[in-house]
Amino acid sequence: MLQRLIGEYINPRRGPMLICFGGMHGNETAGIEALENLFQLLNNEPKVNPHFRFTGQMMGIRGNLRALEKLKRFVQKDLNRQWTNDNVNRIQHTPTHLLSYEDLEIKEILDLIRHKVHTYKPERLVFLDLHTTTAYGGIFSVATDDTESIRLGVEMHAPVIKGLLKGVSGTTLHYFSKEHFHYNTVAITFESGQHNEQLSVNRAVAAIINCMRSLGMVMAEDVENRHDKLLIDYSKGLPKVAEFIMRHTIKPGDTFTMVPGYDNFQEVKKGEILAHDQNGPIRAVCDGRVLMPLYQKQGEDGFFLIRASDKL
Ligand SMILES: [Zn+2]
Repeated sequence: MLQRLIGEYINPRRGPMLICFGGMHGNETAGIEALENLFQLLNNEPKVNPHFRFTGQMMGIRGNLRALEKLKRFVQKDLNRQWTNDNVNRIQHTPTHLLSYEDLEIKEILDLIRHKVHTYKPERLVFLDLHTTTAYGGIFSVATDDTESIRLGVEMHAPVIKGLLKGVSGTTLHYFSKEHFHYNTVAITFESGQHNEQLSVNRAVAAIINCMRSLGMVMAEDVENRHDKLLIDYSKGLPKVAEFIMRHTIKPGDTFTMVPGYDNFQEVKKGEILAHDQNGPIRAVCDGRVLMPLYQKQGEDGFFLIRASDKL
């Protein structure tokens, strides 16, 4: 069985605690590889840069271990749709032998995080959830309504999608909040590109480093420009901020098939046929841009529509 903990970097200089998730979806391994690389970088840095200063505590956690072993999005249930209050309460009050695979994942992840957080008692607690998409074209972050989450997203130098949490429920962003962790908690998700692109790993590394810089865990002068450049280059031409319009939900038994060739952020016109299912063509309800068009079998979100926004 894979280890839950990817790595930890602890410094006596107290500060924020940054907890990064990789592989909440078992077919998205770029975030895990990025975290493995990052811990190597952190361990080497003091040897090559004697002025390197690190403040706080950084942790990398594997998400869905059982799905990662099968390289599938999930085994029984989508782990990134299970983080609702009711569901987590049910899991906490159910004997372990009655829990499903993804229930066990939630229980194990929460046990580990609560232990680590309560041991460190951070002034600030930040969760960064790393994902990739089946579609190409465009990296982005998904922010909560918290202005701090939006700020972290903007400073990652990738488009920030606002309001997406209204369209889905039970994501890590919904649960890892001030409501459940009393340590000035903020969460953000970063989508670093297509599942199998090697650059998705590099972009996730850059996003984590930018996040650590925004939090003051590493100093700006210690961060190489190539990390910013990688993210800025890849988001060229994309909106800085975009707002959620709608999500197409796939119901069990729908024979949903996305029309081939859509990329993240591709502009679409009202009425354009985006996909088909057993009821016929599925058209864009308005002008906008498509996000996360589904080109894999598992998953219940067919696609999202967003619109560029000037407002932060
Ligand atoms: Zn994902």
